[in-house]
Amino acid sequence: MNLFEYQAKALFAKAGMNVPPGRVAASPEEAAEAARTIGGRVVVKAQVHMGGRGKAGFIKLADTPEQAAELARAMLGAQHRGLTIHRVYVERAIDIAKEHYLSAIIDRDKRAVAMILSAMGGMDIEEVAATSPNQIQYLSPDPWRGPLDFQIREFVLKAGLDPAARNAVGLAVRQVFDLLTRYDAMLVEINPLAITTDGTVVAADGKFEVDDNAMFRHPELKEYLEITEDDPFEAEAHRRGLTYVHLDGNVGIIGNGAGLVMNTLDVVTAAGGKPANFLDVGGGARAELVRNALDMVLQDPSVKGVLVNIFGGVTRGDEVAKGVIEAMRSLDIKVPLVVRMAGTREEEGKALLREANITPADSAADGARKIIGLIGRG
Ligand code: GDP
Ligand code: MN
Repeated sequence: MNLFEYQAKALFAKAGMNVPPGRVAASPEEAAEAARTIGGRVVVKAQVHMGGRGKAGFIKLADTPEQAAELARAMLGAQHRGLTIHRVYVERAIDIAKEHYLSAIIDRDKRAVAMILSAMGGMDIEEVAATSPNQIQYLSPDPWRGPLDFQIREFVLKAGLDPAARNAVGLAVRQVFDLLTRYDAMLVEINPLAITTDGTVVAADGKFEVDDNAMFRHPELKEYLEITEDDPFEAEAHRRGLTYVHLDGNVGIIGNGAGLVMNTLDVVTAAGGKPANFLDVGGGARAELVRNALDMVLQDPSVKGVLVNIFGGVTRGDEVAKGVIEAMRSLDIKVPLVVRMAGTREEEGKALLREANITPADSAADGARKIIGLIGRG
């Protein structure tokens, strides 16, 4: 999950970093109110999961609440690189003297945390890497101990920062590392890490990506998840702990394992159908999980039939069948269901399905043909 800038900054502030006072707003009136509360000159910033807002005109200064409202009116509902702007962040403007870059990421290749610091902030780090690679410093701290004092001193020194800013930037290095590990983040990026004209180090922008698989460890971030989701079905799926992606077809798809579900989408598409969703129930699909998944898929009124594709192994066929049958009864399902399962206790499962008037399938392709046939006739 990606956090919005204003959410990232709330976490920065909690970690003790300097961020300007700000408020999020979803309407011009709220933006004016925010500007009035903050007082003085503010900056109005579009909240979307995409950088390059400055160049696109989605970061603008306002001297009065009326101006802030005007800017918010222009930004709200507009698109930035294909994403709709639903909120703006109104923040006390700062006088920036220098813009630096600081980030921490999980480097999968090195299986380590990689920290990046550059005196050349405010622009894409990829651009700096391409044009002035010697302007970028890397640090790979021990994941348990974190960056040690001497490593931080060397890191900051080599980055060629203003001596007066070194200690404060060094502190930010530690804080960013701590944030990454505390929240199981994949990325924490501050660009620019601004040095103001009075010498204060301020996080002027924030990117924060939390590993979805670790979300269960961070109930405090749950409210952000709900704000982040534009699609009500996906929001509901996340509330239920399901891995679900909403698509625009009419064949509901449920499977176990991301690869199998993706393959099922392909097979349905190849057979001339249109998948309505991706839903991975994971390994060991027990009755209750299958019920929950079916209930989820059927929230979408465009779903005219459901194909369940479960590959056995740890998942028992009769369990799956029982789950589907239970769900069918308790949810009062009216659309046709086709179930393909392979592996442990397949035959027992199929027999149970037939008894309950659910169509079993022998392969994913067979299942796809069957469900499309049933929807077509229905
Ligand atoms: P991005 O373009 O999406 O990465 O958005 P940023 O938050 O990084 O803002 C882009 C640029 O706007 C920054 O590099 C700054 O130069 C400028 N900027 C952002 N906030 C302020 C502010 O409070 N005061 C001033 N003077 N400039 C700002
Ligand atoms: Mn930025």
